[in-house]
Amino acid sequence: MSAPSGTGKTTLVERLVARVPDLVRSRSYTSRPARPGESDGVDYNFVGRPRFRQMIDADAFLEWADVFGHLYGTAAADTEREQAAGRDVVLVIDVQGARLLGRRGVAATRIFVLPPSRAALEARLRARSAGREDEAVVLRRLETARREVAASVGYDYVVVNDDVDDCVDRLRGIVLAERARLEAMQAAAADIAATFRA
Ligand code: 5GP
Repeated sequence: MSAPSGTGKTTLVERLVARVPDLVRSRSYTSRPARPGESDGVDYNFVGRPRFRQMIDADAFLEWADVFGHLYGTAAADTEREQAAGRDVVLVIDVQGARLLGRRGVAATRIFVLPPSRAALEARLRARSAGREDEAVVLRRLETARREVAASVGYDYVVVNDDVDDCVDRLRGIVLAERARLEAMQAAAADIAATFRA
């Protein structure tokens, strides 16, 4: 899942995984320092840049990207462990990371969450920063959002976050529909077909 900063994706994903069984959120690694209220191992795995670089060299990442000057990545071992336990994993990643997954042939459903409008996103960014982040940061995020929204054409689904509950309903619908696809259901369907032959 990708969404411009300020779209509300953290809330959406928290509610989504709470509502759908066997769906977990991946915890990314980042070189950025923790913000007040964030903790290591909960919001992110906060690692320094040298450790992040070591992980890149060790090919530990399914995908990684430089976002706003900090490095962010998904550890391949983390998603593999969840999938081996029968769970689906939501990666909340930027558009570069989503592209990389596509290029690497990773089986993924790409969902882009859009804000209702540029004005709505700007209002959210300003409310969230509440004077803490300067004007330049808000403007830079809006410019990044413009480029990211343009990249949403490469995704499989687009969901507009106009109302949180409606948006979570639609996201849940996407997950359930993807789980019902033939590729995902092949083993279960084959087992059922076998009962007809027995
Ligand atoms: P923030 O620092 O505000 O938590 O996140 C900044 C951006 O980094 C967001 O757009 C978020 O989606 C992206 N991001 C977070 N984790 C990852 C990751 O593991 N991989 C990639 N490619 N982007 C990430």
